[in-house]
Amino acid sequence: MTHRIQNPKLSFREAKVRRTITQGIVLHHIAGQMSVQQIHELHRKNGWNGIGYNFVVDFDGTIREGRGMNFIGAHTQAHNARTVGIAVNGCYHTQRTYMPDAQFNALVWLIREIRAEYGNLPIHAHHDLAPTTCPGRYFPLEDVRKGVARPLVPPKTTIPLHTVKEGDTLWSIARTHLGRGALWHDIFDLNRDIVDDPDVLVVGTALQLPYS
Ligand SMILES: [Zn+2]
Repeated sequence: MTHRIQNPKLSFREAKVRRTITQGIVLHHIAGQMSVQQIHELHRKNGWNGIGYNFVVDFDGTIREGRGMNFIGAHTQAHNARTVGIAVNGCYHTQRTYMPDAQFNALVWLIREIRAEYGNLPIHAHHDLAPTTCPGRYFPLEDVRKGVARPLVPPKTTIPLHTVKEGDTLWSIARTHLGRGALWHDIFDLNRDIVDDPDVLVVGTALQLPYS
């Protein structure tokens, strides 16, 4: 799963200031529904330089730049100069709300991108650092932390393999290992470099299987 970060090309009153230290990621919700442009206008009315969040993640998984990766934002008082602030669109406090998968996955992806740049930063909720309910009592904080911690690619030594025996077909292998013969194409896709014709399997070939 890859995402791309969109740049809405917001104009700031003054030049943005680069962070010199980065020690954490702070998660927020918008506590409503707003476009990045609307948040930007609102925060400018606060007298700020512009949108305070470094990034905003929308319901559909679109990630938009606010201040951007390397700049000091305005999202968590006393911690702005050392943290990256991510806000998710929506309200996760006033009524039970489940984060859409697309938004959740994009958020996890974005946190990984930030950690790839700055190391394994701790993931804070805004309310860990300040007296606020943000990002809301229904924000899936622990799921996000777990999602970020889950390895992207399992270690190579555990790649599941099937060694082709006489009479095997991709269909029969898929039925045995994946539960449904119709999933044979998943196995074929993984092994296109060693299987030229899906109807002709060479006995003794070690086929890689999808992780279940
Ligand atoms: Zn917040």
